[in-house]
Amino acid sequence: KPGVKPGTAVLDAAQAGPADSGITVEQFKQDYRNKVERMYGDGLERVSDLDKYNALVSLVRDYLAEPWLNTKEKYRRTGAKQVYYFSIEFLLGRLLGSNLYNLGLNEVCQQALSELGLDLRTLRQVEEDPGLGNGGLGRLAACYLDSMASLGLPGHGMGMRYRYGLFEQRIVDGYQREYADDWLMDGFYWDVRKPAEAVEVRFGGNVRIKSNGKTQYIHEGYETVLAVPYDVPVVGYRNGMVNTLRLWSAEARLSEVVCAPQGGSDCQKAVEYSQTVEELSNILYPDDSTYEGKALRLKQQYFLVSAGLQSIIRNYRENNGHLREFPHKIAIHINDTHPVLCIPELLRILLDEEQLTWEEAWNITVQTMSYTNHTILPEALETWPEDLFRTVLPRLYLIVRDINEYYCRSLWEAYPGDWDRISRMAIISYNRIHMAHLAIVGCHSVNGVAELHTDILKNKIMKEFCDFSPAKFNNKTNGVTQRRWVSLCNPALAQLITDTIGPRWVEHPQELAQLERHSADTAFQHHLLKVKLQNKVALAKYVKEKHGITLDVNSIFDSQVKRIHAYKRQTLNVLHIMALYNRLKENPLLDIEPHTFIFGGKAAVNYHIAKNTIKLINSLADLVNNDKSIRDKIKVVFLENYNVSLAELIIPATDVSEQIPTASYEASGTGNMKFMMNGAVTIGTLDGANIEIKQAVGEDNIIVFGLTAEEVLAYYRGGGYNPWEVYQDNERLRQVVDQLINGFFPAAGDLFRGHFDSLLHQGDHFFVLKDFASYEAAHQVLDERYKDRPVWLKMCSANIAHSGRFSSDRTFAEYATDIWHIRPDTLPFSASEKQIR
Ligand code: PLP
Repeated sequence: KPGVKPGTAVLDAAQAGPADSGITVEQFKQDYRNKVERMYGDGLERVSDLDKYNALVSLVRDYLAEPWLNTKEKYRRTGAKQVYYFSIEFLLGRLLGSNLYNLGLNEVCQQALSELGLDLRTLRQVEEDPGLGNGGLGRLAACYLDSMASLGLPGHGMGMRYRYGLFEQRIVDGYQREYADDWLMDGFYWDVRKPAEAVEVRFGGNVRIKSNGKTQYIHEGYETVLAVPYDVPVVGYRNGMVNTLRLWSAEARLSEVVCAPQGGSDCQKAVEYSQTVEELSNILYPDDSTYEGKALRLKQQYFLVSAGLQSIIRNYRENNGHLREFPHKIAIHINDTHPVLCIPELLRILLDEEQLTWEEAWNITVQTMSYTNHTILPEALETWPEDLFRTVLPRLYLIVRDINEYYCRSLWEAYPGDWDRISRMAIISYNRIHMAHLAIVGCHSVNGVAELHTDILKNKIMKEFCDFSPAKFNNKTNGVTQRRWVSLCNPALAQLITDTIGPRWVEHPQELAQLERHSADTAFQHHLLKVKLQNKVALAKYVKEKHGITLDVNSIFDSQVKRIHAYKRQTLNVLHIMALYNRLKENPLLDIEPHTFIFGGKAAVNYHIAKNTIKLINSLADLVNNDKSIRDKIKVVFLENYNVSLAELIIPATDVSEQIPTASYEASGTGNMKFMMNGAVTIGTLDGANIEIKQAVGEDNIIVFGLTAEEVLAYYRGGGYNPWEVYQDNERLRQVVDQLINGFFPAAGDLFRGHFDSLLHQGDHFFVLKDFASYEAAHQVLDERYKDRPVWLKMCSANIAHSGRFSSDRTFAEYATDIWHIRPDTLPFSASEKQIR
């Protein structure tokens, strides 16, 4: 049912922490009634749930206005160094619950609403979940915002205010269908439009070089787009601090269009023009299969970067002074390659507008910028055709060309005559501009997101760059905020932890380690089991309402929720379930624990095989769920429209976390951390942060299988993998692979031949067949452990107890000290030595 939205947990009064906001229940009630009446000219009893929700958001915004203002004032007064985190994605999740929680207002609000006959949970559910991101990258950025504010760090986000969020996924006849996510339809009350701080961004035209003593670059004939900022408050955890996420929206000034050469005086044309301008911030990652699509993506990236930098510099000028001090006062962080244009754009501003010399401008830029690499997938390491770049951004093109020239000269000095190496490392080569290369050259720090990932960057993918400038490369293992991903989404577990070790873990997650002492304690285990069951019941209720499927809450909930992608290997999971089903068919008395296999995730719109994987999962679900002979021993469900809200429901209810990518492909993963914090046991490959999770929990508390990254990379280098051999040697595997095409899925015909071919005829690039046997064996181990409930619960506790190091508070403290060089004692909200190492 499209109308059914994932619900939200409500915190217990004790878990909600002290009501330190200074606002009483009586005052809240009064303020809320007044707010509704002022906004809607009607009484609380007569307005809709949407109106009630909007009024509540508006009231919470009123409450946070003062700390927001104070925070800005304090930054101005102290001149603290500011960090700006540029990201094309911010996957925030619903904000009402987290803002109430961080403000310390949750308990008061809950009580006040209840006295007014309202339910906070219902109102939280009204909130749209803003889909301003795809998955891990955007969610990571959102966790970092929470940690920056909660650590007292002056750090802000710079992102895009997409008119439409990532598509809404519906499953129709087992297939993914994409619907527009019109998240702004009913307004978004969290942000504040700041038209007075709008800036102009210029595209196209040409650059004239004027030389009278000093060379000047005159950009002419360009098209102007107005960038209007919308500020979203980012509330720190009960520290009186509110940072800002600035989201940019593209708008046309129609009054100017009438006089513009391309506009004419025709009103229709003006409207059309405004539509093309607004296209810039319409959607995330416009389809780039055409030239126009590529141009739009590049323009979108430049739009974010130029608008963001202009506003930073304007603000800096107002408050600080000389640009030579810029790197001591400002740090700019580039999240993945999408905002790499920050580098040439800052140079442009410093050179053309501030009249600095190249050397001065370059030094400032490099000292200011840092870059995080998030993937080694070649398709995600962006490059742009040189002529497209030159056409869309003519001045930046000249700057990039100059950077490339200086850089190649220094390469030449280091490696005289080594043309091959220089062309491999150049920023511009074979008529393409390599954004990751530009990032490495133009930043003082380049970090990977897990130890293995950084290792692969340093020793393989970016080895030559690392040899040339080793000091730049470093690791910052990802983290997630325990406030949203435990306290808010799993209040019952949070309560149990607090009852067991006290409340300090919310701000000091490393203290979760104290749980280890209780992990074998019967009473603790009993409570843990109860909490899990309660969360499973909540998820089962949602699944029943939304999909009409009844789940057995006493079965093992085994979840793989993430983007659908060949390297994440949902197919491996499917083949294993098929094999289990076959075994049950052969032997209906087979002694296995009942399993519920849960899938969720979106496939990119043009990614056909991934979309077919969704159909495959749903076909399997149809078959298995309707086969009475297996007596509900296994169930398969695909939960549509995976997003942050759904993750908040699935993760706390999960027993087994599937983290099974082909080793070397998953840079870090963050879903894996969220599951462990909620007491799920990981079954996973030795990839990304799984490796560090294993180090943290110990090998008894995680189940690993499959090829290592070394082995995978060795196969890529030396060949020698023949999927046919594996297929021939393993009867159970052969059976399931054949079943993809032999009528096992009655209505499928040849639908899954693409999967079959990729496994057998196209080399099984992701080693699904190769890892199948060890994956199956790992599942058997898992079942054995689960049967021995005290052992299993001990494993669950160990996962929670050792999740502290995967807090984004730890990650961000590392970024602050190592990359941005922010000293704890310089923080204006110095909650700090405890958080900064
Ligand atoms: N999408 C959402 C909504 C998430 O919460 C997460 C978790 O971090 C992801 C995607 C990324 O998941 P994974 O790291 O497992 O790919």
